[in-house]
Amino acid sequence: MSESAPVSNKPVHAPMAQFPVEGGELIVGGQPLSRLAARVGQTPFYAYDRGLLRQRVAQLRAALPAAIKLHYAMKANPMPALVGLMAGLVDGIDVASGGELKVALDAGADPAEISFAGPAKRDSELRQSVAAGVLVNVESARELPVLAEASQALGLPARVALRVNPDYELKGSGMKMGGGPKQFGIDAEALGPVLAEVGRLGLAFEGFHLFAGSQNLKAESICEAQLKSYELALRLAEQAPAPLKFLNLGGGFGIPYFPGEAPLELAPIGANLQALVERAARDLPQASLVIELGRYLVGEAGVYVARVLDRKISRGQVYLLTDGGLHHHLSASGNFGQVIRKNYPAMLSQNRGETRRESASVVGPLCTPLDLLADKMELTAAEPGDLAVIFQSGAYGASASPQDFLGHARVVEVLL
Ligand SMILES: *Cc1c(COP(=O)(O)O)cnc(C)c1O
Repeated sequence: MSESAPVSNKPVHAPMAQFPVEGGELIVGGQPLSRLAARVGQTPFYAYDRGLLRQRVAQLRAALPAAIKLHYAMKANPMPALVGLMAGLVDGIDVASGGELKVALDAGADPAEISFAGPAKRDSELRQSVAAGVLVNVESARELPVLAEASQALGLPARVALRVNPDYELKGSGMKMGGGPKQFGIDAEALGPVLAEVGRLGLAFEGFHLFAGSQNLKAESICEAQLKSYELALRLAEQAPAPLKFLNLGGGFGIPYFPGEAPLELAPIGANLQALVERAARDLPQASLVIELGRYLVGEAGVYVARVLDRKISRGQVYLLTDGGLHHHLSASGNFGQVIRKNYPAMLSQNRGETRRESASVVGPLCTPLDLLADKMELTAAEPGDLAVIFQSGAYGASASPQDFLGHARVVEVLL
């Protein structure tokens, strides 16, 4: 049975057509996986494909209006070499800690195009931001006097935007990050006095940041959130101490991880943003519209690769025991915010000419039943030495996993 022709009408994974397969072996960055594993020198590893990263940004640019600025939210994948590549492809980098700020600056990102969001910023991080000349997305009135003090001490402007906790949610998001009570941003209805304080302290006000949620596959919901964000920002702009230079409408573009999920349609989002660009040219003539994306830019360009060490049959169920697991790839194990565990798309890569398929569970070396990379999945029949591949692994992988748990070696990341 091939992946493209399921025998039942059970939902299937979207095809992972971005990576070719030749003779049962996955090709990543133009190289057969067994050779790549030899060149990396160890398993497990993450591999990210430059060509696919470039292609993704180009596809987005083609689908969205030219006036939309595209930012990379680097928490999705902070590997320094990858951030360096992305810095040259997008219009700005969004960081969420002093550590990420360092990586972005080291990568050569223009400080004028870096913004820093995060709900519990340290005073030291706020001072670093002023010294670096980056834009701070302020999430609490507490940040304002700290920024004013840093600005005075350093003799530099404190560039600020206010992150707004909107009075609506992004429908159908994997993770909701706005609407209702939230630790993120400042409630829209409480923003008036904060804007007045920004003016009183003489901070360099630049605009608003709205981010309603993440991992959304419904173009319609994303369009609705963008429109509501725009209209809310327009109302708030009336109370702002200076004209808006910058309006960050958020992101939330999702990628298909699970059976039955289909890729996000960009065309309606492009049309929606075109309409907003035209309105902004009249309503907010000095403002550029920004969207910030993490996983959509990098998620599909990466694979996680672990080696099968053992094959065990327990009461009829095949277990493939690998050297990789949840300590490297928490999200594929289903323990990174998922409510119900589902399999990521996966394959077994081998060059033995094996064509038989079987139901197998791919597990790791940890002493916990949570260490599950694939649960009873239909895969090529595997032997020790074969490589287990988890697709859609370019975002929220290595840096979002508890690598020290149980004391196994840390994972290696390569950019091809
Ligand atoms: C996490 C985050 C992002 C990126 O989310 P993705 O789902 O990876 O696109 C963007 N902006 C903010 C403020 C975030 O917290």
